[in-house]
Amino acid sequence: MKIGVLALQGAFLEHIHIMQQLGAEASPIRLPDELDGKDGFIIPGGESSAMLNLMQSFNLTQPLREIAKGGAPIWGTCAGMILLAKKISNLDTETLALMDMTVRRNAFGRQTDSFETELSIPALGNKPFPAVFIRAPFIESASQKVEILARLPDGTPVAARQGRLLVTAFHPELTGDPRLHGYFLKIVTSAASKK
Ligand code: GLN
Repeated sequence: MKIGVLALQGAFLEHIHIMQQLGAEASPIRLPDELDGKDGFIIPGGESSAMLNLMQSFNLTQPLREIAKGGAPIWGTCAGMILLAKKISNLDTETLALMDMTVRRNAFGRQTDSFETELSIPALGNKPFPAVFIRAPFIESASQKVEILARLPDGTPVAARQGRLLVTAFHPELTGDPRLHGYFLKIVTSAASKK
């Protein structure tokens, strides 16, 4: 499988390494041409407003939207989750607007700006998943088309899926557990078999 990782800014290298370890052909994307021929895409963590500006300047926003509407799987982590949401509740910027949900940016306030926890993600099996949240967003509301995959103990949704679109509020590329990357690769493999 060929995975393109948006590499304008943020934590893209770690995603490329894990995907390569899992046997995928992962490469960075900075130019519109590099979107061609990929089976799936990752939008990494970083700074969502910077990433949105860079995507506009590099002419990636519209092509990415069209590719997603054509059925390409996309996984957004942290800032990437913000970019995929239809709406950001506390920032008035246009996103890729692909998933029917509203997210809150920097949602965890100062005390818990960044934290690590073990999350239950039933789609990955019983073993808890180590999740690092870094000035992370959370899902404030979502339509019924969005399946919530994980919640914090207080019920806050922090991972979700809508068809071939996947989002995680945390950074699964930083903790050495490759199960979410494997989960996304399954979405990509199944989408590729239906092309
Ligand atoms: N706080 C960042 C933003 O709003 C996201 C942080 C991250 O991706 N780790 O874009």
